[in-house]
Amino acid sequence: MDWSSFPREKTDCILCGSSSRCLLSVHNTWPVVRCRECGLVYLSERPAEKTLIDMYSKSYYEDGDVGYKGYIRTFEKYNDTFMKIFARRHRDLLHRARGKRLLEIGCAYGFLLDYLREREWKVTGVEISPLSSAFARNELGLDVHTGSVESVDLEEHSFDVVLLLDVLEHLHKPFDILHRIKELLSPEGILVVQCPWELYHWEEIAEALLKNMKPGTIEPDSVPAHLYFFQPRTLEAVLEKGGFRIFAKQSGNYGSIRRQVDPPSINMSNPVKGFFQFVYFRLGLQRFLYAASRLMRLGNGIIRYAVPDSEDTTR
Ligand SMILES: [Zn+2]
Repeated sequence: MDWSSFPREKTDCILCGSSSRCLLSVHNTWPVVRCRECGLVYLSERPAEKTLIDMYSKSYYEDGDVGYKGYIRTFEKYNDTFMKIFARRHRDLLHRARGKRLLEIGCAYGFLLDYLREREWKVTGVEISPLSSAFARNELGLDVHTGSVESVDLEEHSFDVVLLLDVLEHLHKPFDILHRIKELLSPEGILVVQCPWELYHWEEIAEALLKNMKPGTIEPDSVPAHLYFFQPRTLEAVLEKGGFRIFAKQSGNYGSIRRQVDPPSINMSNPVKGFFQFVYFRLGLQRFLYAASRLMRLGNGIIRYAVPDSEDTTR
């Protein structure tokens, strides 16, 4: 599927409304810009919202240029790694949540919901992709709705936890979704948001500097599926503008599965560079720095726990 052929729409900054921006890079014809007012990094031209279902069709999960290369196969092959990630998520949820009624928005094939259901959570999912939502319903027997969270019928104030994992950066109208989540959360309910820290994460800044490029100018390969490239500050600003108060922050790391599926290549045509890549990728320097950065909240995954800001909850 050729994403560059999708119908397009132009947008200004969704966070502050400004049209003032500087161009960072152009990836496969899609312009990545940074707002001069608030610093949000976003696509100023993006696939039109009506193409969303086409974007997350079979090829996104299975064989497209953008997205995953064989989602179910990867899950089965690297199941041990997935189980560790799910177990950590489960521990974190038990620690923060006040009840076990959980909604995952953008649940894909439903593997996390399946894991949580086995641990006595009452789980519901919403997923825009007909392909993966049908799998979750038919193969895993999960309560998963196909569509957007605004369009499906869910009982208001009936969820103790809403998960929005790796989803916000894909949404054309993130504030509409955040508004809907407030309607769905129970009085003590919490929202869990996870996004990748892209472009201005330390690893990508270092990569840019090593390539003699300015920080932020590396072309992200998540374009145009990701419409925004968050940093902790801009993600928090979006949540606050959406009417949420953040009560806990966590840092995560992406890449443990990608490193197994697709290990970075070592380029020995430049021996100095090749040696550095060998030490970094193969001898474990990257893994060490990732582990250290998680502790310092500098991992490449940003996790925030939030409640509607009209709530006066003490946690
Ligand atoms: Zn802005």
